[in-house]
Amino acid sequence: MSHLRPNIARMHAYVPGEQPKVPGLIKLNTNENPYPPSPRVAASLRDAVRDGSPLRLYPDPICSELCAKAAALYGVKPDQVLVANGSDEVLTLALRAFVGEGQRVAYAMPSYSLYPVLADIQGAKKVELAMNPDFTLPERLFRERAPLKLVTSPNAPSGVAVPTATLDRLCAASRGVVLIDEAYVDFAGDNALRLVKKHRNALIARTLSKSYSLAGMRIGFAIGHRALIEGLMKVKDSYNVNCLSQVAALAALADQEHFRQNVARIKATRARLSRELFGLGLGVLPSAANFVFARPPAGLTARRLYTELRARNILVRWWSDPRVRNRVRVTIGTDDETDKLLAAIRDIRAKRP
Ligand code: PMP
Repeated sequence: MSHLRPNIARMHAYVPGEQPKVPGLIKLNTNENPYPPSPRVAASLRDAVRDGSPLRLYPDPICSELCAKAAALYGVKPDQVLVANGSDEVLTLALRAFVGEGQRVAYAMPSYSLYPVLADIQGAKKVELAMNPDFTLPERLFRERAPLKLVTSPNAPSGVAVPTATLDRLCAASRGVVLIDEAYVDFAGDNALRLVKKHRNALIARTLSKSYSLAGMRIGFAIGHRALIEGLMKVKDSYNVNCLSQVAALAALADQEHFRQNVARIKATRARLSRELFGLGLGVLPSAANFVFARPPAGLTARRLYTELRARNILVRWWSDPRVRNRVRVTIGTDDETDKLLAAIRDIRAKRP
């Protein structure tokens, strides 16, 4: 007899990308930023722990200073922002606050594979729609009735951004909350922030994990109408963001120049990598994120490309799911890592049977 709730006993856990500690491994599998965060982050952390005193106290439960800073940056009021333990926590809180057991949560797949897991934990009914073949949103998502719809833009793993006009139409067509997961949006040309001023049901999730190089500190934001933020606040842990993460996030947000340069470098490498992969015969979707989703040239399966790269100490992401198994997702690395990746692909291509 299981001690678990039936939905927990039945569900499959989320499988995070591997974090192997192999020396010299070129890690292009989890969309981390290859460059370090602003030097101000380490300096602030050192100052904060110098005499250890902040560690003795509970952290600010509502991250007041960080909230105000993020609100100013995003052009909203502080009561429209919730700070979370990564944007994954924003997603968890949204399921908890907006979707009752047995109620519907709608999203298009392929997308972030955490969505079905969170729906299962909540005991929600998953309404999984197929993305159009060009990775645009299916019309059915607009017609669905659900207390929560989840949209990733730019999407993962495709890298394709949803036009803000489409998201605007989705919010207008939906009665429930539309959560727009903008984990990768800093690498895109536009974002949906203006929709939170127009729609009471628009909720945006942001993270410092990618464009601010702070995946290890776990900082995310929810941005939306005051009433939505108030609801999320009710269901979060009291101390959901630890004191050092708050310090690190404040320092990172304060250094916008570092942020801009970091993002610009990744976008430049993304353009070069996409061009060169195309030249090598790979099909590359135009990416608005810090990764590309690439289809190998004829005579080479994506699985083979993944294993051959792995044998050369280069880790990319491949899924056996039939909807995406003909592509690999490659995180944008440094220029040197990109050169090595391209050399490895040339070598694998030359040796294909
Ligand atoms: N949304 C999407 C689409 C993601 O790919 C990720 C990263 N795995 C996240 C949210 C979560 O990011 P974090 O919790 O690090 O903020």
